[in-house]
Amino acid sequence: MIPIAKPIIDEDVIDPIREIIKSGNIAQGRHVKQFEETFASFIGAKYAIATTSGTNALQLALLSAGIGGGDEVITTPFSFIASATAILQCGASPVFADIDPVTFNIDPGDIESRITSRTRAIIGVHLYGQMFDVGAVQDICQRHRLIMIEDACQAHGARFNRSLAGSYGIGCFSFYPTKNMTTGEGGMVTTSDEGVATRCRLLRNHGQAERYCHTMLGYNARMTEIAAVIGISQLKKLESFNEARIKNANFLSDVVSSIKGLIPPHILPDHRHVFHQYTIRVTSDYKMSRDELKKYLECNGIGCGVHYPVPIHLQPMFDKPDCKLSYPRAEQAAREVLSLPVHPSLTTQDINTIAEVLRNA
Ligand SMILES: *Cc1c(COP(=O)(O)O)cnc(C)c1O
Repeated sequence: MIPIAKPIIDEDVIDPIREIIKSGNIAQGRHVKQFEETFASFIGAKYAIATTSGTNALQLALLSAGIGGGDEVITTPFSFIASATAILQCGASPVFADIDPVTFNIDPGDIESRITSRTRAIIGVHLYGQMFDVGAVQDICQRHRLIMIEDACQAHGARFNRSLAGSYGIGCFSFYPTKNMTTGEGGMVTTSDEGVATRCRLLRNHGQAERYCHTMLGYNARMTEIAAVIGISQLKKLESFNEARIKNANFLSDVVSSIKGLIPPHILPDHRHVFHQYTIRVTSDYKMSRDELKKYLECNGIGCGVHYPVPIHLQPMFDKPDCKLSYPRAEQAAREVLSLPVHPSLTTQDINTIAEVLRNA
């Protein structure tokens, strides 16, 4: 089976990890600091704060912006659940805006009518590795005095014009094993706002300003030195990983666009899409349903996935009637999308096999 995701972790992490274990300094220390500094400079943000997951990066970003009970945060219903649950975990309420059917990202044109006197922030998600319309969302945020948070958990190295994902608003990254780079489990907040950075550091470490002096309610989201060493190594290779993803995606798009009823990912001008997922749309013009094609590919040794089969607003955890609103474009995407393997571990033979199976389906 050709897997849908597979991380590449270099052996260059083994010696530093051995040193860390021998030293006994395993919890957050100088390697975490080094990882934060190199990550911030890569993204083009002044500060980066390492965490233990993308989810708590989102929580820290929201809390550092003062968001809590009674507040509303606008986000997309078509993402991984954490984009919305991070809002609930801060005591605030998610309010959804529908997506652009071409990019699958939040549609700025559907945001403004959802803004109320309680709205405090917008979390846009750079879904599959291509950035949402940061220009338009930034504009809305400025006009309504809202905070823009970028869920960049799928967009390490993605770019719009000259600037990277995570440098426009408060950036939140995940280093889960399926992402463009990994630390096992891990996350990062990026910001150029000193106040946000200071509050994130406090929130991550029990609100501790000085030893045993706790100035605010905090949490424990400290990264380990071992994770940081893996992150430092991964960051050095991120560009080559992303280039391999882009090359694989271009190859697949040539095949997909020649098949009636299948639509390859749309790349916007001035954007660099880093293909966390290579996600096609299986339309009603195709000879099989999306689920039949998925089954066919899997029977022929090709791992594939549906990201995501149930939009967030339809998840069983939302049982309140006011959450049963309809977001038709997100619901249609959930019926049509199918992700194929695109990761850098694919061999030339793998990618040729995927093309052949697709053509013969
Ligand atoms: C992976 C992911 C997250 C959560 O990251 P974790 O590290 O798994 O907590 C949040 N948002 C999006 C869009 C993701 O893909």
